Amino acid sequence: MYLALEDYSRPQSIEACLRLLQQPPQPAALLAGGTDLNVRGHEELRRVIDLQALAMTEIEALEGGVRIGAGSTLREIQEAPALQGAPHAALREAAAAFANVAIQNRSTIGGRIAVERPDQDLPPALAALGARLQIYRLINGVVEEQVIDYPLGDAARAVLRGALIRAVEIPAGVTRSALRRLGRTAVDRPLATVAAARAGEQVRIAANLQGPGAADLRRLSRSEALVTEWRGRLPENWRSRLRESLLAELNPYGDAFAGGEYRRDLSATLALRAVAAIHGEEETG
Ligand SMILES: Cc1cc2nc3c(=O)[nH]c(=O)nc-3n(C[C@H](O)[C@H](O)[C@H](O)COP(=O)(O)OP(=O)(O)OC[C@H]3O[C@@H](n4cnc5c(N)ncnc54)[C@H](O)[C@@H]3O)c2cc1C
Repeated sequence: MYLALEDYSRPQSIEACLRLLQQPPQPAALLAGGTDLNVRGHEELRRVIDLQALAMTEIEALEGGVRIGAGSTLREIQEAPALQGAPHAALREAAAAFANVAIQNRSTIGGRIAVERPDQDLPPALAALGARLQIYRLINGVVEEQVIDYPLGDAARAVLRGALIRAVEIPAGVTRSALRRLGRTAVDRPLATVAAARAGEQVRIAANLQGPGAADLRRLSRSEALVTEWRGRLPENWRSRLRESLLAELNPYGDAFAGGEYRRDLSATLALRAVAAIHGEEETG
């Protein structure tokens, strides 16, 4: 229940939205699909700013890649013509993996990025695909636009505080991507998620397991370098060599759902499968 709520607005422009976000009454929050905000964190809110009138729902193929409006739902991401095909498979798999269909119909990609939870599928997919964010902030009363790399780590994540995420840009160049995850049931939160993408010979691998906060999403750079070195032709013993590298590099958290060691082993297996998928190899092990 929004018991402290004093003001509910639906601004027609980004500037009006950002001004409302800073003006009293405070605290204030943006409302997109509401699947997180309507469940938790709203009790003390005195102002809610509904993003619906900004209509940030485009999903379009442009010369440099695909642009996804922050208000696009997980369902729309799965079905968008611009995101069909091998390069964006990890994104579709992440959107489809998410909870149940009712949630997929409401949850937006902007809301997903803004909420810090470790049990996420989209962030590893976005990191592996080299996503960029178009954001707007009000600095000294002036609206500023920025395009930033998808943020990894605490410092980069701080950039998002007080910002409106307008769109996600997936650059062209990736030829194949894959996401592998495991939850206890098909509609449960993931215990581990790993995504991999290939752009020419360069391989990116991202996992969201390094601590109990979304800010701990990390690229597995040593393992990426190892696979990239193989230049698309995986050697006979690639699975054992990559597993060794992954296990050394992964530092997963443990919680009531799964222990850290279990997550480490599971994540290595999921990463091997994702790497096999982007190379057209059989997914064993
Ligand atoms: C049954 C159920 C199961 C769920 N399962 C999962 C799960 O497995 N994994 C998981 O991670 N989450 C899960 N969630 C949480 C929730 O669905 C996600 O966090 C969702 O992606 C939030 O998106 P939204 O559009 O609904 O955001 P909202 O709830 O509208 O907003 C959430 C936050 O994001 C901010 N925000 C929204 N849009 C923007 C924007 N464009 N720019 C800046 N800030 C913005 C808001 O200010 C707010 O603080 C679940 C929720 C439910 C109810």
